[in-house]
Amino acid sequence: ANRVTVEDVSMVYDGSNGPVEALRKVSFDVEPGEFVTIVGPSGCGKTTLFRIIAGLQTPTEGAVRLDGDPIDGPGPELGIVFQEYHLFPWRTVAGNVGFGLEQTGMPTDQRRERVGELLELVGLEGFADSYPKDLSGGMKQRVALARALAPDPDLLLMDEPFGAVDAQTRTMLQAELLDIWEATGKTVLFVTHDIEEAVKLGDRVVVMDREPGRVQEVLDIDLERPRS
Ligand code: ADP
Ligand code: ADP
Repeated sequence: ANRVTVEDVSMVYDGSNGPVEALRKVSFDVEPGEFVTIVGPSGCGKTTLFRIIAGLQTPTEGAVRLDGDPIDGPGPELGIVFQEYHLFPWRTVAGNVGFGLEQTGMPTDQRRERVGELLELVGLEGFADSYPKDLSGGMKQRVALARALAPDPDLLLMDEPFGAVDAQTRTMLQAELLDIWEATGKTVLFVTHDIEEAVKLGDRVVVMDREPGRVQEVLDIDLERPRS
């Protein structure tokens, strides 16, 4: 079970014009296997919340737990996908996907097999030896997704993953992601500023709202998702 608990998370930055309150007592749970989207306007604190959940940033107050244990840094239990791909340009597609597996010391044969399976999962069979610079944005994001899934993380965290691709590619990637989610049963937390995307993908949508210059409130909306 991979339950995420966001517990009274507050974040205050030291801005140049004094403290900036980015999050105030944000609390919500993500149930095991759930696909939760977080949506809100620019400046409402989405990136801050994402970075805290990913263990990349420490909140001023509160905590994020994975199955009851505090998340204290990005580890193999978290698969993270960013908008800008962040692929290693000097490594092949297979090298990028295999990266996390190398860190775990998985033997070469097993690694090749696992990388092959992942490339198939994201529809990139035949591109193992290509380099990121030769791929379209959509393909790069498929590589990033395969790399994130490689160590079989408990939680898949995605920050505006389809924000940098064209509309047609985005629609394809959304459908592929839902298929992969159903195939793998991962718990997914997906941040977007696009309400349409949030509603389309999420089992549940966490809506962040911004008071002028200040804070947001978190609402949970239960949705009947129209499944294709
Ligand atoms: P979003 O991702 O929804 O656009 P952010 O989490 O980036 O929101 O920002 C939330 C608020 O915190 C904004 O008011 C932003 O200006 C402020 N903020 C973010 N990072 C910093 C920082 N490092 N220092 C000071 N203020 C920050
Ligand atoms: P790089 O040039 O990026 O270092 P490598 O050839 O060293 O690429 O491969 C890196 C990783 O990808 C290794 O984990 C290896 O096991 C795996 N790998 C390489 N080629 C393939 C392939 N054709 N199919 C599946 N996995 C592969």
